[in-house]
Amino acid sequence: MSVKLKIKKDDPVIVTTGKDKGQKTKVVKMDRDGGKVFCEGVNVSKKHVKPNQFNPDGGIVDKTMPLAVSNVMYYCEKCSKGVKLGIKVLESGKKVRFCRSCGEIIDK
Ligand SMILES: [Zn+2]
Repeated sequence: MSVKLKIKKDDPVIVTTGKDKGQKTKVVKMDRDGGKVFCEGVNVSKKHVKPNQFNPDGGIVDKTMPLAVSNVMYYCEKCSKGVKLGIKVLESGKKVRFCRSCGEIIDK
């Protein structure tokens, strides 16, 4: 796992730039190689599709486009804002992420 990318799948995040700025969402999928994240309901584009076996009528489908991971921040419930994360090692040897603003440990 990359140490640089501190955002993980299922993390609550807030969009920090672009047309969806300020939107709270959740990471549904990571694309680590490209440094991209797919977030629920963010950057959705309507795509016209031709009828096919899955969608016999064709029409318009919602397609979630990825965001650059730098365009989102972890959303800390305690701070009620997007925060930077740090990583520390507990006495048990477990590596956990924590909020750099309030110190709350994220990985329990
Ligand atoms: Zn916090």
